[in-house]
Amino acid sequence: MTKDPAKIQARNVRRRPYHRELAATKRREKPGAHAAYMRDWRAANREKVRAYDREYYRLHPRKRLHDQQKQRVKRAALRSEMIAAYGSACACCGEAQYEFLTIEHMNRDGGRHRKQVGGNAGVWLDLKRRGWPKDGYAVMCMNCNWGRRFTGRCPHEDSHVEAIAS
Ligand SMILES: [Zn+2]
Ligand SMILES: [Zn+2]
Repeated sequence: MTKDPAKIQARNVRRRPYHRELAATKRREKPGAHAAYMRDWRAANREKVRAYDREYYRLHPRKRLHDQQKQRVKRAALRSEMIAAYGSACACCGEAQYEFLTIEHMNRDGGRHRKQVGGNAGVWLDLKRRGWPKDGYAVMCMNCNWGRRFTGRCPHEDSHVEAIAS
């Protein structure tokens, strides 16, 4: 093995078409496999990724603003998709004001779920990847969400809310 940087560089350039072709073949054979691999790698190496990002954004401050803006738009779109997937209204009282709605973990494992997948947007993305499972999840308004917080039962369930029937 040569250690001469110029020779290494030349060898890399020489092999580039071969590596490109190899990568293209792999993409054809197993679409999405590399993306999945990278996702797992990033999840397993969060600290490394974070340090790399910090350094990158320190050098490219305008790129950070741009990326943050893009993230906000993506996040808003994902939230809207989630609300729609779960019926666009509170499963308990029927409240349909978009801003009041949130995803409810019916089995009260929201804290653990958020921790596992990284916050609210992580939860939405996880649900999307799983095809918006209805078992254990529902959209509810903040009031009903809060009402269920300690007991797992919304006070509405005991006071026979009229809103559902109407
Ligand atoms: Zn509600
Ligand atoms: Zn309720």
